[in-house]
Amino acid sequence: MSRFIRPCLLSCILGAAAVLSDRDAVLAQNTPPPDTPAVVVKGVTYTPRSILARNMGSEADRLEQFPPYKVAGNIYYIGTKTLSSFLITTAQGHILMDTTYEKNANVLAKSVADLGFKMSDIKIILGNHAHGDHMEGDAAIKAMTGGGAQVTVMAEDVPALEAMTPGGKAHPIDKILHDRDTVTLGGVTLTAHLTAGHTRGCTTYTTTVSEGGKSYNVVFSCSLRAPNTLTPPVIEEMTRSFSLVRKLPCDIQVGDHPAQFQMYEKYERLKKAGPTGPNPFIDPLGCNLETDIQEAMFKAVLGRTASR
Ligand SMILES: [Zn+2]
Repeated sequence: MSRFIRPCLLSCILGAAAVLSDRDAVLAQNTPPPDTPAVVVKGVTYTPRSILARNMGSEADRLEQFPPYKVAGNIYYIGTKTLSSFLITTAQGHILMDTTYEKNANVLAKSVADLGFKMSDIKIILGNHAHGDHMEGDAAIKAMTGGGAQVTVMAEDVPALEAMTPGGKAHPIDKILHDRDTVTLGGVTLTAHLTAGHTRGCTTYTTTVSEGGKSYNVVFSCSLRAPNTLTPPVIEEMTRSFSLVRKLPCDIQVGDHPAQFQMYEKYERLKKAGPTGPNPFIDPLGCNLETDIQEAMFKAVLGRTASR
């Protein structure tokens, strides 16, 4: 038992910060996680504190619209500066992935409108994982679609979602997925891979997208940041998830926070390249950079525990 208490010294602080950052950004900013251990991946040093700061940015960053844009094919970014949200469009309606905070519902709706799409055409709402900064807005966004969008969630995240009730509203859950189930709409199919660890139902979605006459594999990554308590089951889940995501066919990788896929840098290159230039989001070699960072941190925490 004591083996799993010590990693908790760090991971519990990390996890607590994650929970706080989801529920109370200001408090999270005032109580950052520790600055150790440090890991170096591709020449960049990361600590638990720097990773959280990189993911969340300031409170203004979490709430401010990022200019909506086409990532590739029929996939659009409609999130804020540090909280990802995607719209996947089809001729039979659209899929929205990650509603973020409830108070961001108008921001997401503005992005959908700015791109020329309609909220009422959203038929399916998916969520990356059951933390407030990604799925708190499910009820509000569902209402903005006219109530017809089906909130579709991974089974293992249902208990956490049922406890997520902003303003006392029950969390809408219309359909429950299991590992490797598919979601299909208008000729688009997404496969839901259970990549547990960060939450019990953390889900990595895969699909394909067509652009310039070619087909590309897309991975919507779930966070691989270790949760607050590294119990044996959680260690097993994280280990399985690291291995699983490395095997997914991938040409384009995006994540629940823009920092997890170097969005700012790629967006700037996209703007410079223009509509006929190379798409920087097509980056097979970069697909597992985030996996490398999070696995290095996970192993550093475990290794430090083992050496004590
Ligand atoms: Zn999270």
